[in-house]
Amino acid sequence: MAKKTVQLVKGKRPVAKAPAAKVKAAPARQAKATRYVYFFGNGKADGDRTMKDLLGGKGSGLAEMTNAGLPVPPGFTITTAACNLYYELGRKVPGEVEQQMEANLRKLEKTAGQQFGSVQNPLLVSVRSGAKFSMPGMMDTILNLGLNDETVEGLKARTGNGRFAYDSYRRFMQMFGNVVLEIPKEEFEKEFDAVKHEGGAKLDTDLDEQALRDVVKRYKAVVRAKTGKAFPSDPMEQLRGARNAVFRSWNNPRAKSYRAIYEIPDHIGTAVNVQLMVFGNSGDRSATGVGFTRNPANGAKEFYGEFLINAQGEDVVAGIRTPMPITELEKVMPTAYRELRAHTTKLEKHYKDVQDFEFTIENEKLFMLQTRNGKRTGYAAVVIATDLVAEKLLKPAEALLLVEPSSLSQLLSPVFDPKEWKSIPVATKGLPASPGAASGQVVFTADEAVAWTDQGKKVVLVRKETVPDDIHGMFVSQGVLTATGGMTSHAAVVGRQMGKPAVVGASELRVNEEEKVVHVGGKALHEGDYIAFDGLSGEVKVEKVATKPSEILQVINGTMPEKDSEIYQRFKKLLEWADKARTMGIRANADLPDQAEIAYAFGARGIGLCRTEHMFFADDRLPIVRRMILADNEADRKAAVNELLPMQRADFYGVFKAMHGCPVTVRTIDPPLHEFLPKREDLMVEVATLQATNGNKKELEEKKDLLARVEQLHEFNPMLGHRGCRLGITYPEITEMQTRAIMEAACQLNKEGLKVVPEIMIPLVGLVKEFRDQKTIVERVCQEVMKEQGIKIKYLVGTMIEVPRGAVTADEIATEAQFFSFGTNDLTQMTFGFSRDDAGKFLKIYQEKRILDADPFASIDTVGVGKLVGMACELGRTARPDIKLGVCGEHGGDPASIHFFQKVGLNYVSCSPFRVPVARLAAAQAAMAVKVGD
Ligand code: PEP
Ligand code: MG
Repeated sequence: MAKKTVQLVKGKRPVAKAPAAKVKAAPARQAKATRYVYFFGNGKADGDRTMKDLLGGKGSGLAEMTNAGLPVPPGFTITTAACNLYYELGRKVPGEVEQQMEANLRKLEKTAGQQFGSVQNPLLVSVRSGAKFSMPGMMDTILNLGLNDETVEGLKARTGNGRFAYDSYRRFMQMFGNVVLEIPKEEFEKEFDAVKHEGGAKLDTDLDEQALRDVVKRYKAVVRAKTGKAFPSDPMEQLRGARNAVFRSWNNPRAKSYRAIYEIPDHIGTAVNVQLMVFGNSGDRSATGVGFTRNPANGAKEFYGEFLINAQGEDVVAGIRTPMPITELEKVMPTAYRELRAHTTKLEKHYKDVQDFEFTIENEKLFMLQTRNGKRTGYAAVVIATDLVAEKLLKPAEALLLVEPSSLSQLLSPVFDPKEWKSIPVATKGLPASPGAASGQVVFTADEAVAWTDQGKKVVLVRKETVPDDIHGMFVSQGVLTATGGMTSHAAVVGRQMGKPAVVGASELRVNEEEKVVHVGGKALHEGDYIAFDGLSGEVKVEKVATKPSEILQVINGTMPEKDSEIYQRFKKLLEWADKARTMGIRANADLPDQAEIAYAFGARGIGLCRTEHMFFADDRLPIVRRMILADNEADRKAAVNELLPMQRADFYGVFKAMHGCPVTVRTIDPPLHEFLPKREDLMVEVATLQATNGNKKELEEKKDLLARVEQLHEFNPMLGHRGCRLGITYPEITEMQTRAIMEAACQLNKEGLKVVPEIMIPLVGLVKEFRDQKTIVERVCQEVMKEQGIKIKYLVGTMIEVPRGAVTADEIATEAQFFSFGTNDLTQMTFGFSRDDAGKFLKIYQEKRILDADPFASIDTVGVGKLVGMACELGRTARPDIKLGVCGEHGGDPASIHFFQKVGLNYVSCSPFRVPVARLAAAQAAMAVKVGD
């Protein structure tokens, strides 16, 4: 806890501004100061892998690797709590953090045998961010900190390499100048290029010590000109500046936008890792690289990664140079390679998950700089989870936790038709960084990607390389194509994480972002031209290419045999494990037999919502529905309603049959009637035209009548108007007909040997008397039908809880209703008072301003709407202990909401057929989390 007024310093009494007599003695247990800095080094660390909240992912990984005896350069982690305190105190670092940092720095000096600021033996450190959740490239890093005009000479003397020492110095100045002093990168790049140009150097590595000394001199001038001060030479001042800049970078625009996309909370802050520098850029026997223990794009069990000789870590991820595949390392530095393989295999076994690691080799000696669970595509996640179980590294239930439920939808996204794809010539090939078919119009900037997508266009973002600032554009594109960078470049990492198809390092592409043109395969493509690529093979083609359903969908649709699709078999296996682990049922929202069939094939075992009115929209039914609405007397209305009866019966028959006897909840009519009539404005135009042109008299009269009825039905707030059970109450014959259709279909199937238990559901109930009114009709018609058919059928009558009044009087309603299904779409609309059709306009801004963390129509607002759901469950159970509880709003397919529904004890969730796999897995994870007390 932060102590703002009284600062405790170890060994000293509290210092307070108030008179001593008035200061209460601090309780004894407060005398122990909060620890803000954790050390790691010499085979022992203060922290471990369980401390991600406090030490961040990187910090906890470094601690864990140190404890496991891996070669980790020593250092310390300043906690996320210190970062939060920094913000709480108005961007100030309290004395206790400063003191603990200094104490740990002394410890680091001792461990390293070097001194900060020493000319003879200077200690140099890296300063890196590291939040609980990895946010690749979004925050800042500074390397080689501790260098100044004196210590650089010490580094030169120690390494005997002046070029290296000055190259390190200029890199440091450049990073520090940009990150801490906030001077634009270009200011430094200009000077660097000028020196290169003057010396006739082509590559950075062509510059000798003298040229690099010149660069340093120029950089100093840049700093003075831009800040009015000299470049800070005191290493302690450098360290404090770098630490605070990393804290600040938690709130830079790209980090904020990344958190918004991934729903990472703003309040958790970042840790800062200060670590002894090791140099991958100290010559040809040095290198730096990154890798994965398995292929993160397709899940294959292969050692996977890349490296650069004589380079620093940032060079690999930045995508500036295209690195070499890691297998090459075996040829150039076999010992270091073997060690690396041994360490990373050990780490994978230890963490029981694929590891994404960073390493540096300094003069053939290997150092591990990071390990974390690797991000992967949905495709790879399924392959890896099923493989780890087959390899007996994990139990099935544990493997379920390795797959992000929403990433399963990537496996359902479209692919190219192999025949068509083959017939188009390959324009070029890049690295297959993230699988999936992408086809769209070329755009060259992230902002354009967003603007074009807002106009309803499909775009492919083509860049030389992506940078973290491009994240919003990558998010909306069909895919990302870059000319440089390797499999672990920014575009590749972020593409995989987003499930966005990506091909990177397509080095034949000549991208000119200023002129908005890309040359590929001898053609010049301008903004708006079509391009397509396959993220699994890396092939790029210059054409608009249609896509077709994924392999999994083909199996589901019955167009591919299950045995031909390995990924389907794995997908199925994983979801069967999920079914064993979950306690909630999974149903689907489906209105028609074909949708119900797909839902069943995806594993839904019931329909949670059949919106009967959707059956009214078919071309052959709309005229009858309109006649029903336009009828001005009961007899005419009944006649029209009766015409609809056989059609509805056939629909229900089909839906029941497709569900193979699983429960089916059918809802009586819900939307306002005007939705079935033509638009008022259109009719007005048609009437006016007929009048002006002396058109057909009969037609004119009909249109006029229609317009009059439309005007009669017109509502200012249709969502709060004549809809839901209010319709059934005013037009009981509709409820009667629908009940009859449901029961007749059920009786027919029963006679054919399929037992179905229809659940008839009344929408938009807020008053128990509304429900009673409709239930009386339903019960009467059910009895009539069963008598006519000479058969007894079990059925339930229940209600939706989607009006706040219904939720707060759920105990009364439950005396009559046998089940509740939460209509969280309407419940959210009415609890917030946000129109579900219009809120999109301002919800975006609400999220940007963090008034809301997520769209409450997509993920349930647990605090408000969720409270009503929880309350209604309790009230419902009090009145009727065996009441069946489910949800059928959109939230039924959202993993975070599913977690919540598990907690309040729903019996099932119902979602759209395509989200059924996501819901199966999410429900399994939710059940496991609740079991362990989450
Ligand atoms: C709901 O309101 O959550 C619901 C499922 O009903 P509809 O979306 O049809 O209004
Ligand atoms: Mg509703």
